[in-house]
Amino acid sequence: MAYFNDFMERSIDETDPEIGRLIGSELSRQRTHIELIASENFVPRAILDAMGSALTNKYAEGYPHKKYYGGCEYVEEIEQIAIDRACSLFGAAHANVQPHSGSAANQAAYFAVMKPGDTMLAMKLDHGGHLSHGHPLNFTGIMYNVAAYGVSAETETIDYGEVARLARESRPKVIVAGASAYPRAIDFARFRAIADEVGAVLITDMAHIAGLVAGGEHANPTRHSHIVTSTTHKTLRGPRGAFVLCAEELAKDIDRTVFPGIQGGPLLPAVAGKAVCFKLAAEPEFKSYAKNVVKNAAELSKALAERGFRIVSGGTDNHMMLVDLRPKKMTGKLAEKLLGEAGITANKNAIPFDPEKPMTTSGLRLGTAAVTTRGMTGKEMLVIADAIDSVLSSPDDEALRKSVRSKMADLGAAFSLYESLK
Ligand SMILES: *Cc1c(COP(=O)(O)O)cnc(C)c1O
Repeated sequence: MAYFNDFMERSIDETDPEIGRLIGSELSRQRTHIELIASENFVPRAILDAMGSALTNKYAEGYPHKKYYGGCEYVEEIEQIAIDRACSLFGAAHANVQPHSGSAANQAAYFAVMKPGDTMLAMKLDHGGHLSHGHPLNFTGIMYNVAAYGVSAETETIDYGEVARLARESRPKVIVAGASAYPRAIDFARFRAIADEVGAVLITDMAHIAGLVAGGEHANPTRHSHIVTSTTHKTLRGPRGAFVLCAEELAKDIDRTVFPGIQGGPLLPAVAGKAVCFKLAAEPEFKSYAKNVVKNAAELSKALAERGFRIVSGGTDNHMMLVDLRPKKMTGKLAEKLLGEAGITANKNAIPFDPEKPMTTSGLRLGTAAVTTRGMTGKEMLVIADAIDSVLSSPDDEALRKSVRSKMADLGAAFSLYESLK
């Protein structure tokens, strides 16, 4: 009995100091670095609580009130609350909150409406689309015939005329709207008109912008789309996970393709975290959060443009920007490395019509969802723009990177993160 209690009650630092220390180091990295990766954010403490809870011990295959396991009375209530909140937040008839990731949500959506060999039309990956939109090594590229639209060379924004032309030409079963690296507003009504013209199903993948949709800073795709898929961990500021929204007619198909189609039991800590995330995203405070995310992105992009960087499409409507580094004679790969050494975390990204290889790139993708969560505003965006400019203008100056790194750590320290965690 004593032995049992001993190992059951010990903290991670006692049980596995090696992993405990690394978790601690990661927390301290998050506190001291400036996080500009556009797909990342910091969840509220309440969501960390849900994620680290005893819910991890429970199996709950099936859906609320139709579970294949006993003892589901509390967890199915949690799942039902998450479903109801997702529907109310985005104005959907049906929600499935079980997908473990955005890729799984997309897989469920595709399986619900396509057969292997069918054609899908989605955004080119090197113009901003996601792996699960048809990358040759992804299941989408393997199972489906993929046609791809891009942005116009002049405006660097989606060329809806080309989308329509490609749709008429390829007669896709599915058209996918949504992207991982697209800084402009997306016109969902236009996508729907094109889908209707060719009889395609419109799937909108709002993974990146879901928080802006919830906060009223981006048009809501729900009404225009047959199916909406999304992650919860990007601008929506929830746990790592995903969900699918659809009309009542597709509800059974979506539920069937998620479970038993592609998954077994749901990750209940994440389902509870999603419920908390949807609650918070419906509160007035989240509206001002979303507004500040967009405002900070606009200010950071303007400040970088004033410092000689070229901003793809000339600016941003959402939480992210693509920075063309060629005016600074710099690649994305090197910029990512130099900024990392200076305490600024960002990722290299292809820009449309990028002459460099995908592992090198000419661009950086920057997003403001995470720094806005920390409470940063326009003043800090200028400090960050200066830091980026100085580091990338003097790639040989290691001392400068060291000094920027300590400045960034001071900036981080001024905006506390998880003070209640040691
Ligand atoms: C992030 C993202 C996903 C998938 O996310 P994972 O959870 O990493 O599988 C899907 N679609 C888009 C557009 C994304 O940006």
